[in-house]
Amino acid sequence: MQICKNYIGGEWVESVSGEYADTINPANGNVLAKMTVSGKEDVDLAVAAAKQSFYETREWRDMDSQTRGDFILKLADLMDEAREELARLDAIDMGKPLRESEGDIDDAIHCYRYYAGLIKAPYGGVYDVNDGFGKMHSYTVHEPVGVCGLITPWNYPFLMGAWKMAPALAAGNSIVFKPSSNCVLSSVKMFEIFEEAGMPKGSVNLVLGPGESVGNAIASHPDISLVTFTGSTAAGQSIMKAAAGNIKKIGLELGGKSPNVIFADTDLEGAVEWAMIGIFFNQGEVCSAGSRIIIEESLHDAFVARLAERANAITLGDPIENPDMGPLVTEEQMNKVLRYIQKGIEEGAVLVCGGERYTEGDCAKGFYVRPTIFDQCTPDMTIVKEEIFGPVVTIQTFKTEEEAIRLANDTEYGLAGAVFTNDISRAIRVIKEIRAGITWINCYNPTFNEAPWGGYKKSGIGRDLGVHGLEEYQEIKQININLTPGAVGWYEH
Ligand code: NAD
Repeated sequence: MQICKNYIGGEWVESVSGEYADTINPANGNVLAKMTVSGKEDVDLAVAAAKQSFYETREWRDMDSQTRGDFILKLADLMDEAREELARLDAIDMGKPLRESEGDIDDAIHCYRYYAGLIKAPYGGVYDVNDGFGKMHSYTVHEPVGVCGLITPWNYPFLMGAWKMAPALAAGNSIVFKPSSNCVLSSVKMFEIFEEAGMPKGSVNLVLGPGESVGNAIASHPDISLVTFTGSTAAGQSIMKAAAGNIKKIGLELGGKSPNVIFADTDLEGAVEWAMIGIFFNQGEVCSAGSRIIIEESLHDAFVARLAERANAITLGDPIENPDMGPLVTEEQMNKVLRYIQKGIEEGAVLVCGGERYTEGDCAKGFYVRPTIFDQCTPDMTIVKEEIFGPVVTIQTFKTEEEAIRLANDTEYGLAGAVFTNDISRAIRVIKEIRAGITWINCYNPTFNEAPWGGYKKSGIGRDLGVHGLEEYQEIKQININLTPGAVGWYEH
């Protein structure tokens, strides 16, 4: 059986405690691997290695951007060679269908290649200025922040790591990375790739273990200058507090409860299919999931009938066999989703389909939940307000555009949202009113490395991806050169 260890200072090491925990296949409950369980002492060791690499040996930091970019391209090539294995690891560890997992690995490889190129692109500003002291030549440089702590969730195990590690490393930082302890296998493989590629010792460090100990030790560590986190809003709040001690730079990509607003003039079949991608892709375990469908009254009946027909036809099964949906990530997550479903029924929402665990054949051993649609939902219901993070969608209706916008924004989250209509003016008007960072018109969920990703309100701070995603990992320094050296005559005596 595979034993997953920490990677610190270029060595694979067991945690100080010597304890191990199981990694489970959610399709059947079988143990996939043993994972070392780290604590604060292990974070201290990883931070010491990262500090030494950043402040003393400086090999990664001092590499010119062309060489560093080429190195990252080499990492991407090695990932490409390991594509099938990486995809299989995420599928068996997390439960996502293999074809979705393959898509994740391809996106991650593109992400590394994107930042390998971006770090070579022109940046910064050059200014000729004079504020009364004489002519100055002023320019800006971008520098790495230092030791960065990166914490990721389980829903896109490999891809979420790529979104953070690729720009952090492109910028020249040294990193301490902590993936979710629910899914560590593809991250361990990634660090094997770092080792194979010859990353300088201490520039990349992996610490496996729970959020309360390892995650919190990273967020509060005085020698970590930046913490970037993707996960739940509750954990994000705790990280924000922990990071205050040394005023860390901070990036938070948090939860969502995103509206999918559908007007009656839209193409019905298209809207139904995108709504399914919005809520059933990745078993609904997607931060940007379109978990609140808000539909114009006159299209409601036809839409719900067709959505239910198609949701009932969704196949569930072992992710490796490429069903439409796999199991939820853990038994705990399945039970959490089932509790929300029960709450929806108790609070008076109308269950249209699903609403139960799926136990056909071998699926009885796994953690499967049938695609679930709740109709006649109201803003006060728990299932409309709280992030469920599973294949459960709520349906609300509206009569006017104003009402649609009001319902869409009636949430403490602000991660994503979509509008479906054939009226282009209305599409732009409504999307501009939706208070969210990632929005779509006539589609749901497509994501690009080039565009910044992040939330409004309780969905987060900062942006992953795009140029912004690189700048999150950089300090910007201004350098001002006096072009007329000598006394300026400011003081008379
Ligand atoms: P989680 O918050 O439980 O855990 C995320 C990571 O943080 C894990 O590595 C975990 O071990 C660690 N962690 C947990 N508590 C911590 C603490 N107090 N201090 C430091 N670290 C801690 O989230 P999850 O269940 O892994 O993922 C699901 C959540 O992630 C959902 O809310 C989802 O919306 C969100 N998410 C957001 C985005 C985004 O881009 N906004 C993307 C994916 C997932």
